[in-house]
Amino acid sequence: MISVVIPFYNEKESLPILIESLVLELDRLKKEYEIVLVDDGSKDNPISKLKTQMSKIQLKSKSFKILIHQKRKGKGEALKTGVENASGKILVFMDADLQDDPKDLPKFFEKIDEGYDFVNGYRVNRRDNFLVKIYSKLASWFLKTFLHSPFSDINCGFKVFKKEVLKDNFRFFPLFVFYQGFRVTEVPVLNHPRRFGKSKFGPQKLFVGIFDMFTAYFLYKFSEKPLHFFGLLGGIISLVGFLILAVLAYERIFYNVLLYRRPILWLGVLLVIVGIQIIVTGIIGELMVYLNKKNKV
Ligand code: UDP
Ligand code: MG
Repeated sequence: MISVVIPFYNEKESLPILIESLVLELDRLKKEYEIVLVDDGSKDNPISKLKTQMSKIQLKSKSFKILIHQKRKGKGEALKTGVENASGKILVFMDADLQDDPKDLPKFFEKIDEGYDFVNGYRVNRRDNFLVKIYSKLASWFLKTFLHSPFSDINCGFKVFKKEVLKDNFRFFPLFVFYQGFRVTEVPVLNHPRRFGKSKFGPQKLFVGIFDMFTAYFLYKFSEKPLHFFGLLGGIISLVGFLILAVLAYERIFYNVLLYRRPILWLGVLLVIVGIQIIVTGIIGELMVYLNKKNKV
């Protein structure tokens, strides 16, 4: 069975239209399905209207679930609620705002049928504001270059995957799924401009995104081997410090340059101390990883 999970916050105009075209497309797939709608604390009160629409469609024996957050918790949490209540083995994530098009679903399912575990969409012709697009491209480039990400559009919310790929980790989970060795791929998807309402994310999303990127970097690159990161960073810093001190020592011994005339001495000392501290942090991190693993076995 397929579970389509749709989080929404104030999307009363879009939802009914989406559901209509979604049901049409899902019927064509000839697979068993359910639609899991998660109301993320909407204030525009779409539920009663939705329910009447549902009951009409439900007459044709379709299954819907409506889950409600009393308060807005964000898209990520809404997806989590949806997943927890989904009974399908295959999950579909899509937005409620009509930017994603159900017509793309067959493409995703072709890949699933080919044996892929996780299929991400990528928006070929993205309809978002300029800044968001640039930022998103940068993030994808960063992840591709430094973290071997196989995804061109990691922020694309439109995806289809087997439920088993989902572990507790939700942020950047496409990347996480890939690292765990599941078969992943991507398909081009349509992206429509938003027809009703406004984007629910403001500019703060960009900043959160930047932090997320660093978290991803650490989590996946260094959570296993913290010393690789801290060791390198601390090593470079203390090496610079040592070089400075070596030059000063050389000058002091052979040219009799008195150290009180060399304020850079302070920098040298500082760099050595800070560098060593950073290396030690890495060693402690290494110890934590080790203990954590030992406790799990
Ligand atoms: N959304 C949500 N809770 C939030 C923010 C967004 O459920 O706090 C939903 C929103 O209703 C939409 C989807 O997440 O269905 C994507 O949001 P939006 O279209 O505003 O994001 P954008 O496409 O601008 O990235
Ligand atoms: Mg949108």
